[in-house]
Parts: sequence; structure tokens; C-alpha cells
Amino acid sequence: MRSKIKHTANGKKSSYKYVIPLLTVTVGGVIGGTVAYSFLPDEDIASIDASESSNSSETDSANSSLKEVVTAPQEAAPTTPTIEEVTKTVSVGKGDTLMKLLTRSGATPQESHQAIVALSEKYDPRQLKIGQDIKLSFIKETPPEQSSPETVQLISVSLKEDVDRELAAIRKEDGFSIEETVISLEKEMARAEGVIENSLFLAASKAGLPTRVILDLIRIYSYDVDFQREIQTGDKFEVFFERFVDKDGNPLKEGNVQYAALTLSGEKIALYRYQTPDDKLVDYYSPLGQSVRKTLMRTPIDGARLTSGFGKRKHPILGYTKMHRGADFGAPRGTPIMAAGDGVIEMAGRNGAYGNYVRIRHTDSYKTAYAHMKGFAKGMRKGKRVKQGQTIGYVGTTGRSTGPHLHYEVLKNGRQINPLSVKLPAGRKLKGKILTSFKSFVKKMDIEVAAVPLLTEMAQLEAKNKTKID
Ligand SMILES: [Zn+2]
Repeated sequence: MRSKIKHTANGKKSSYKYVIPLLTVTVGGVIGGTVAYSFLPDEDIASIDASESSNSSETDSANSSLKEVVTAPQEAAPTTPTIEEVTKTVSVGKGDTLMKLLTRSGATPQESHQAIVALSEKYDPRQLKIGQDIKLSFIKETPPEQSSPETVQLISVSLKEDVDRELAAIRKEDGFSIEETVISLEKEMARAEGVIENSLFLAASKAGLPTRVILDLIRIYSYDVDFQREIQTGDKFEVFFERFVDKDGNPLKEGNVQYAALTLSGEKIALYRYQTPDDKLVDYYSPLGQSVRKTLMRTPIDGARLTSGFGKRKHPILGYTKMHRGADFGAPRGTPIMAAGDGVIEMAGRNGAYGNYVRIRHTDSYKTAYAHMKGFAKGMRKGKRVKQGQTIGYVGTTGRSTGPHLHYEVLKNGRQINPLSVKLPAGRKLKGKILTSFKSFVKKMDIEVAAVPLLTEMAQLEAKNKTKID
């Protein structure tokens, strides 16, 4: 009788130890005893890639030493029970909880509870996403004769908390404990450029830019560019950004945009991400050292559409002509609304026809207000200090409103002014020594950017290499 040990990837980079307590082995039907087996995976096993599935029923060669540990005592006593490690990967379905998943897969409620408690040290089980994979492993023990039923014991539960972080609850002598595995990713630079035909979003996707980077790009330029009205066919963009790849070169997540350029109606607006050495603040600057950051953002919401501007209009609910004292941005219910600038919340709550409403005081003379929200972001209350770009609430249609939109007001000395035409005071302008070092930083960056091939070029190269191999 041979035992099979199927290996899971749980142990990646963390050499771990299973101890199966109180495993009763009967030798020749005469001796009853208590044996504890230790499985100590060696370095080879510990470095097996997480993406390699262990569904194969054969033990792969890297595990041979592990296999020996288990089979040795059994060869000496051919009638010992079969001990098998069974691994399962289960996908989270709608309405699933970790508890449901574990018990459905064969774990007892008690051991499931223990494993979940261990995981909860670093993981919120409510964060479980539909489609997420959970890896389970069990030790199955089959007695030599059909005298007693087989027993199954849960030994580990692991899940990816992020692309580069795996958490596992591992059974130890005294219950489950959590182990965290950080998968080291390598940082590389990537570059994309394109010409806008219909929308920046479409052109950027075509150029291979991940959605997160496109949104970053829009955010970075949102101080200067009205994406609704200023983008035209033929305008160009270029983005240079960090991304993190696994050891096979697969990009797993994106980092910061380091450099970007938009060419609008022939005029190039280049921006460089730079940390000023004196205050250590990071910001985007023009090649001349002017910060892009203004005291207030023009559009405090991502991907929104201006649906109604400032001025006289026929009110959609009241029917008569009324002064519209803000700008309306149509966006799906639940879209995050950002603080247009640094400031302190002056009011957050129900406010008549405004519905759920937030007002932020930015400077002595400037305030902004946000209305018809579905709800407020956590912790938003009077006196709370907020940073520019921080989410303060979500688009809704509370109060006097016909559909989900953000009603946005800018108040100057207590009076509403047109948010789209307000002349906003500029951010920091670099001077002196800092400007000198920034300018040499820009030169170096330009050289670095030019040296990195475009994502589209890289895709073509890969395709070429593939056909060569075929
Ligand atoms: Zn409005």
C-alpha cells in the first residue's frame, strides 16, 4: 500500500510544518500506538509556484523527499492506514460565506470555525469576492480494513488577499494559526501612447493602458483639463507608469504614473511626478516646475458627464425657470464623490431639497458643496479634515432630484459662483535650488521614457517571437 501526498502551493516561501496529532497506527493488528508524523517540506517544495495546480494525482518529482518521509514507516508495516493529502480549490459563489464553503467541502463546523478565526487576524471574511478561489487541503486517513470509516481532517485554508499576498490558516499542534506569504513582484516601467479618435478612454484601452492607469491619468489632468469639452479627435496622449510583474513577466498590478503628456489641439501639456525634497510631498509638475494641483478641482468625480451647467434653466421638477446655482454631473448611483480640495467639513447631513449634503470650507473665502448623495463616506462629519481627492460620499438622488447625479457648488464669500469658470489659485511653483534639481530630474526622466518600448510594440514583439517558436 502506498500513500500519496498531493502538494499544495500553500508553503510557498514559508517552510511550514504539518503535525498530525494522535494518528493511530495499527501494525499487524497487534500493536496499537500513537505516532505523530512531521512533514517538513524542503526548499524545492517551498519554491513551487502558486500557479501550478496540484490537481494531478501523481506526486511530482520535487516532492519525492516529502513522499519518502511518509512512505518509509508504512513500507515496514504494510497494513497501516493510507494517509492522503487531498487538495481542493473552490470558487466563491453568490451568497457564500467562508463557513459555508468550508463545511460544504468536507470540513467540520468546528475546524472551519477555528480556521476562520485564525484567518480573521489579518483578513476580513466579509471581503470575500464572488469568483475568488480558496484552496483547501485535507488529510484523509483510510483504515487498513473496512473496520472503521475513513477520517478527514482539514489542515489548511489559503486565499489570495491581493495579487502579491497570500494568507493561510494552517493546522498546528494546538489549533490553526495564520501564515502570510508575500510574493515578491518586480517593478518595471511601461509606456503607452495613442491618438484620440472617439474618447480618451477608448484610445487608451487600445494602447494597452490598464483601466486604473487611465483613471489616474484623468485624475492627474482633472485640474487643468475639462475632459468633457476639451478633448478632440486627433489629440494625443502618452503615459509612462510603473507596473509590477511576477517572475514570468505577467503584469499583476500597476504603480504610479511617473510621466504623462496630453497634446490638446497641438498644445503639449507634460507632467512629471516629483517629490519635493523639503516637505517630502509628491505632486505632478509642469516642466517649468508649476504644480498641477489647484486649490479646487473642477470636476470632483471620475468619468462624469456634465448634464447641467450654472445659470438660468427650466427646473425639471418645479417646471418654472429658476437659477441653477451649481453644476450637475450625471453618473451612476454609487460613484465616489471626491473632496474638491483640502479643507474641513462644515456640514454633512440631510439638507432639505439638497438631500444628503456635504459642505467643505477650503479657505477663508472658498467653500464647495455636494448634494443629492446616496450616502456619506465613513467618518464624514462636521469638523472632519479632508484631503483633495478623498472620497466624501456617493452619487445618489436624494432630495429634489430626478435621477442619480452630483449637484456641485462652489461658494465664494458665501455666494454660489460658476464652478466651471472659477479662476482657481494655483498650487506650488518650484524655485531656487529645488527648481534646479527638478529640471535635471526632468532631463533624466525624458531619457528614461524614450528608452522604454511602447506596450503595443512589446505586444507585437511577443507575437513575432511566438510565431517563430511555432
Ligand atoms: Zn443641480
